[in-house]
Amino acid sequence: MRDLSSGTMGVEVDRGPRDVEITDVQTTMVDGNYPWTLVRVYTDAGVVGTGEAYWGAGVPELIERIKPFVVGENPLDIDRLYEHLIQKMSGEGSIEGVTVTAISGIEIALHDLAGKLLDVPAYQLLGGKYRDDVRVYCDLHTENEADPEACADEAERVVEELGYDAIKFDLDVPSGHEKDRANRHLRDPEIEHKVEIVEAVTERVGDRADVAFDCHWTFTGGSAKRLAAALEPYDIWWLEDPVPPENHDVQREVTRTTATTPIAAGENVYRKHGMRRLLEEQAIDIVAPDVPKVGGMRESRKIADLADLYYVPVAMHNVASPIGTMASAQVGAAIPNALAVEYHSYELGWWSDLVEGSVIEDGSITIPERPGLGLTLDLDAVAEHAVDGETVFDEA
Ligand code: MG
Repeated sequence: MRDLSSGTMGVEVDRGPRDVEITDVQTTMVDGNYPWTLVRVYTDAGVVGTGEAYWGAGVPELIERIKPFVVGENPLDIDRLYEHLIQKMSGEGSIEGVTVTAISGIEIALHDLAGKLLDVPAYQLLGGKYRDDVRVYCDLHTENEADPEACADEAERVVEELGYDAIKFDLDVPSGHEKDRANRHLRDPEIEHKVEIVEAVTERVGDRADVAFDCHWTFTGGSAKRLAAALEPYDIWWLEDPVPPENHDVQREVTRTTATTPIAAGENVYRKHGMRRLLEEQAIDIVAPDVPKVGGMRESRKIADLADLYYVPVAMHNVASPIGTMASAQVGAAIPNALAVEYHSYELGWWSDLVEGSVIEDGSITIPERPGLGLTLDLDAVAEHAVDGETVFDEA
């Protein structure tokens, strides 16, 4: 196994003011519409980087376990540190899953930190900017998610009142026609109900917004193909995760045999290695990595590069606080093939209170020219919304 610690990699040359050491790593969990795990990396330069790991049980404990492997290291060596952590945490399962999520949170904090130390925005660390503004799509919900008209009403409200021109609905909602939810088979009346939802929403806002639909890995390959075929007339943005995420052969079959409905997947796949077959075998039309889960910002850049070899665009899955969302937007600014970043908290009210200033305006994020992620965490707001019993970050 490669030893990626500093001593054996020959990175001990004096770098002058860039000779900085990590002194501590801390987490604070915020009680949002998901339990957001915010991560801070502290240095002997008095500069702190803030990141976010995708929500999940055990993430703060894993980050505590990772801490000894980064303390004393130079935070500017982001790529080497990421690989170092993947190697060191192999016993905890760093091929995929929650350990990669924990590492992702630190990796994002390192981008914020490195940007602050070098006085450049994070996108600059990823190769520079393709765009000033990154499009945001809003994930929508209704009280009665199975009622096509209720979905259309909410779509219209969000497009008109909140200014989004890109939205997404769940399409794995109960129709009342199910005989057995476990066998993954879609009966014809269930497909007809899904078509009614898609038709109602796209007829109402399709001239003003792109509309995607998410199936959350629910159906058989055969059912997914029938559903995708039934949706061909409606010009949807994409159909997401129609089949379970483990078997890439089935994913490829569904995508390749579907005529024009774009098929998206990727939020439950980890690291560039997890994405490799999906992209190399052209098993998806759109790749949907979750930046604070898949391995972080640089790993997402690598996935976007791999996708770009196959002319596949990137729609970043996102359920994060403003920190993880801005990390995704910074990646979106730096890759050629960015479609959009998801926003999953429009019903929360205080989402943007966690940072100073606004983040999403009129359905897009303007990438700040400030160093790092360009956000300042409001520690009082973090304390106000922290999960019960959480200790809030130390000041820098
Ligand atoms: Mg999804």
